[in-house]
Amino acid sequence: MTLTDTYKHKGLRKALIKTIMEKGISQPAVLDAINKVPRHFFFDAAFLQHAYADKAFPIGQGQTISQPYTVAFQTEKLEIKPGDKVLEIGTGSGYQACVLLEMGANVYTIEYIEELYQQTRKFLPKIGYKPHFFLGDGSKGLPTHAPYDKIIVTAGCPSVPSELIDQLKPGGILVIPVGDNERQKMIRIKKIDNKKLKKEEFDYFSFVPLKGEKGWSL
Ligand code: SAM
Repeated sequence: MTLTDTYKHKGLRKALIKTIMEKGISQPAVLDAINKVPRHFFFDAAFLQHAYADKAFPIGQGQTISQPYTVAFQTEKLEIKPGDKVLEIGTGSGYQACVLLEMGANVYTIEYIEELYQQTRKFLPKIGYKPHFFLGDGSKGLPTHAPYDKIIVTAGCPSVPSELIDQLKPGGILVIPVGDNERQKMIRIKKIDNKKLKKEEFDYFSFVPLKGEKGWSL
């Protein structure tokens, strides 16, 4: 792992930004955040060429760091404002959490696999990012710290857990991939108020499965 951010890395990041813009990402704040987080910090030096390719990559324990386009897409749909309290379900490498932090969010992130939780909890502060870390089953959210302005799920879900809607503030937004183990449709639910929801459906993506009580397996 290289913890220096050289002109070469910055150049590779600029090229990545161009790629995701060509795929439709346009919000300046999201592009800025992706441009600021050194994605190669999350990779072994031998895999530098993968760090700035627009693809997911294995991080161990059968899990992945999400594709930059996917991270940008979900982040755009969250409509992040500085100061938003955001719950991320599926900490993984911590990359998505860093992007949200760069946008000024106050991030609560929960991970199911203890090894990944320990690894990321130790690593992120070393590179200057400090979300609130939790270990456990996030398929039912994180009720102890609710309500949230925004909730993002970064693993594929069989359906939308009602607990996540309950843990949103009125006016809050949930972005969640829902489908089978092959592909999932990105869904955005806006909680207009305690009685009214607005649901929107976007493209298909391919995530690792959500585990836990409201996921695919315990
Ligand atoms: N957001 C991550 C990143 O930036 O690297 C990508 C996450 S990876 C695609 C999905 C993550 O969700 C995995 O680390 C997996 O262990 C975690 N996960 C799966 N089910 C979960 C659950 N019920 N609660 C919390 N985390 C879960």
